[in-house]
Amino acid sequence: MPIYEYVCKSCKKEFEAIRPMSDKDAPIACEKCGGKKVRRKQSTFSARNESGSVAGTSSSCDCGSCSGGSCVSCGH
Ligand SMILES: [Zn+2]
Repeated sequence: MPIYEYVCKSCKKEFEAIRPMSDKDAPIACEKCGGKKVRRKQSTFSARNESGSVAGTSSSCDCGSCSGGSCVSCGH
């Protein structure tokens, strides 16, 4: 299970909690003051959400007879 970081708005206490991903935004009590005004901090390792796939930039063609650009045999 991933570790999430939380910070209490009442006492500024920062703490971590291991929770299932489905409960990451569920209410959690501050471990110091027991307050419910707890905000989840952005996790450092799960913040990388950029898509690594860029469609349409491959220079190789499936037909194998052209070098990219306009190909009359495969029509790409
Ligand atoms: Zn607190």
